[in-house]
Amino acid sequence: MEPSNSIFLAGLLVYVAIRGVYEERAKRVETSVKRLDGLERALLCLAFVGCLILPVVYFATNWLAFADYRLPAFVPWIGTLVMIAALWLFWRSHVDLGRNWSKTLELRKEHQLVRHAVYRSIRHPMYAAILLFGLGQGMLLNNWLAGWSGIAAFAVLYLVRTPREERLMLEQFGDEYREYMRKTGRLFPWIRNNL
Ligand code: SAH
Repeated sequence: MEPSNSIFLAGLLVYVAIRGVYEERAKRVETSVKRLDGLERALLCLAFVGCLILPVVYFATNWLAFADYRLPAFVPWIGTLVMIAALWLFWRSHVDLGRNWSKTLELRKEHQLVRHAVYRSIRHPMYAAILLFGLGQGMLLNNWLAGWSGIAAFAVLYLVRTPREERLMLEQFGDEYREYMRKTGRLFPWIRNNL
């Protein structure tokens, strides 16, 4: 296995471990509103295939070899830095959301609006982390399908999930969330519109 593939695999393990810890903790927090419909389930399946299944198929078989390509030698180095940034932001956004975090669209009992730390200037740091992870994946795997499936899955998840999530937050927090939206970007602090 190439060193860049091993780095991606290590990153994927850290990603799964962070998720595992917070999923376990989330089981102990009561939910008051749950929006787990067919679309939400489809989004989660898509993210699973893009971020996990295709890379695993790429490592375990040669079925995707037809989509291999070679990258310039410096690209995996940048990919490694992007992956480290992604994992830090992924972990940090779980910490900052705390008991308000959920894998699907939910509101917790006594849900609080988080506006501090990594939520201070962007509303979706966890999705920003997944975007960075997908970019790192593309730069570390030399394959069009396994490399870029993470970003493709992210794009669909982001475009469908984010407006629904913001609607839920607006229903729950009203003007407080409206003001938060005015002062923050969705993924980029300097883009204050609906990107
Ligand atoms: N979109 C956010 C959070 C993803 S987790 C991010 O990318 O960081 C999804 C859950 O987080 C949603 O069900 C919603 O209930 C909750 N949530 C999203 N933004 C929040 C915020 N600012 N404060 C508290 N809970 C939030």
